[in-house]
Amino acid sequence: MEVENKYVTLKKHIEGAPLESDLEMRSTVLVLTVGEGSDDVIVKNMYVSIDPYQINRMKKYSPSQTAVNFSTRLDVGQAIDAYGIGMVVASNNSAFQKDDMVAGLLGWAEYSIIKGGNMLWKIDSKEFPLSYHGGILGFSGLTAYAGFFNVCKPKKGEKVFVSAASGSVGNVVGQYAKLLGCYVIGCAGTKEKVDLLKDKLGFDDAFNYKEESDLKSTLKRYFPEGIDIYFDNVGAEMQEAAVANMNAFGRVAVCGVISEYLSTNEKRAAPDMLLVVYKRITIQGFLAGDYMDEFANFISTTSDHLRHNRIHVVEDISQGLESIPSAFAGLFRGDNVGKKLVQITQD
Ligand code: NAP
Repeated sequence: MEVENKYVTLKKHIEGAPLESDLEMRSTVLVLTVGEGSDDVIVKNMYVSIDPYQINRMKKYSPSQTAVNFSTRLDVGQAIDAYGIGMVVASNNSAFQKDDMVAGLLGWAEYSIIKGGNMLWKIDSKEFPLSYHGGILGFSGLTAYAGFFNVCKPKKGEKVFVSAASGSVGNVVGQYAKLLGCYVIGCAGTKEKVDLLKDKLGFDDAFNYKEESDLKSTLKRYFPEGIDIYFDNVGAEMQEAAVANMNAFGRVAVCGVISEYLSTNEKRAAPDMLLVVYKRITIQGFLAGDYMDEFANFISTTSDHLRHNRIHVVEDISQGLESIPSAFAGLFRGDNVGKKLVQITQD
């Protein structure tokens, strides 16, 4: 059977904030059969993840493009690979059968061909809504889990600060930290997001960073006894202010630096390294992909929290492939609350 496979691609490389018009839809004819001797898998995509890191792939140059193989530069017209959830429609690969529900590196497209079934795994789609596997039980959840437990090495009672705290990773970090018995403060960019953190997600307190003019004093106010752990999603000024307020032997997990993604090469705020030395602070960048060994633990722990309603799922789902450009540009305007997904098809 032949189908028209629509996909989203770059119209031109992006400098600065992404515009919806920087992306466009194209289509190609796809035969939904896998040739003899191939171990490829064809997946009908159902949900795709919208993630900030893609902006660094869409620039003419970013140092991240040569660091790891999933962050390589995207060219104009190229299909964009992205994390997603789908259903196998054809496979010669012994690990996958037609109609299997799968997660992995799919794409901003209606269908994806996964060479050799790489970066693809089966999911149990019966217990929780399918969309959960794109967020809380997917890569965002793993990022929060591994970043918090493996990188930050938290202890009960420690004081934790999370930036972009209403986002897909941040909201889960804050909820894990509360379940462990930490004192947790988050920051976000609107009153609604701040209220969500305090009233629904159980954060001890939260503030709107856009209303603060001196972030070092703000953090001093919220953490009079200092910060033990900073889960950094934004970088630059917030990172500098958090480090200035850290306790001895504090840990900073640098998950992402979204406030730096849109800037060109100007000088940015940075932590005071003298403080890093004298307070013996650990600052560690990490990538969730390095923690695939933790995936089974992460799924079993998080599923258990979900079964017992100990964790809230915050999702923000747009409909249809056509909504990808605005969903993506919206990440950098703070439009999303929780995990941003696009539902490509309902069946
Ligand atoms: P997200 O938080 O769901 O979406 C982005 C949010 O960032 C926006 O809603 C906005 O919320 C905030 N934001 C946008 N521009 C900002 C700016 N200039 N300053 C401060 N906040 C800004 O995204 P996510 O998926 O959870 O990702 C969060 C961070 O983790 C990103 O830096 C991402 O690249 C990184 N990440 C890393 C890994 C890894 O393996 N290391 C994996 C996934 C994500 P506000 O309204 O609060 O501004």
